[in-house]
Amino acid sequence: MIVVENLVKTYPGAGRAGEVTALRGVSLQIPDGEIYGIVGPSGSGKSTLLRCLNLLEKPTSGRILLGEDDLSTLSGAQLRAARRRIGTVFQQFNLLHSRTVLRNVEFPLEVAGVGKQQRRTRALELLDLVGLSGKEETFPSQLSGGQQQRVGIARALAAEPEVLLCDEATSALDPDTTDQVLDLVAEVNRRLGVTVVVITHELGVLRRICTSAARLDAGRVVETGRIVDLVADP
Ligand code: ADP
Ligand code: ADP
Repeated sequence: MIVVENLVKTYPGAGRAGEVTALRGVSLQIPDGEIYGIVGPSGSGKSTLLRCLNLLEKPTSGRILLGEDDLSTLSGAQLRAARRRIGTVFQQFNLLHSRTVLRNVEFPLEVAGVGKQQRRTRALELLDLVGLSGKEETFPSQLSGGQQQRVGIARALAAEPEVLLCDEATSALDPDTTDQVLDLVAEVNRRLGVTVVVITHELGVLRRICTSAARLDAGRVVETGRIVDLVADP
């Protein structure tokens, strides 16, 4: 279970701009194994919540619990270890263009100090899972957008995270490719049992793979529930 408790995030104002409160007391509970959507208009706080969840941003107040562990109190080596429990898939893929596909997937394991043989074995398994066997020695620029995002998914899974966070992960893809990538995320959820959190502004994305969702507006959760109730066709 991921528990978000009364999360507040205020950014200090730059220059003459005043401070901005992006999250105004967000509380959520995401059960293990779920594909959970976070939806809301631009500026509602989705990215801020995501960066708090993947521990790239420190909340101003409130807590994030992953299983038994309170992630909001960590720093240093503990924080770095906790970050490996959460894998992120980015809108713009964020691949390293000077590295092959295989070495992109190995990268998080390299940073974590995993030995060469072990990380190679893991990366090859993941490339097979995402349907990219045979592309190991290819460079990202030689792949289609959908294939690049498959590499992004494999890389996010490399360190065996408990949670896969998808940050507008299909916004840069055409509709058919979007469906294929979403179906892959659903398959990863089934096969690996990883909890998936999907940040999106698109209801179609929610409808295709999420079981439940929360709707954010102006830094607050305004609605939570099962997808069928939230985005029912009128
Ligand atoms: P969304 O992802 O839903 O578009 P964001 O979390 O990006 O929402 O933004 C929520 C609010 O916080 C917006 O008003 C945005 O301008 C502000 N904001 C986001 N990131 C920063 C930042 N690094 N510094 C200052 N303000 C920010
Ligand atoms: P390190 O020792 O690895 O440099 P720090 O504790 O200095 O780690 O934090 C590095 C980054 O992580 C900073 O950008 C900070 O905002 C963010 N951060 C620190 N503590 C937390 C936390 N408890 N939750 C989320 N983000 C955090």
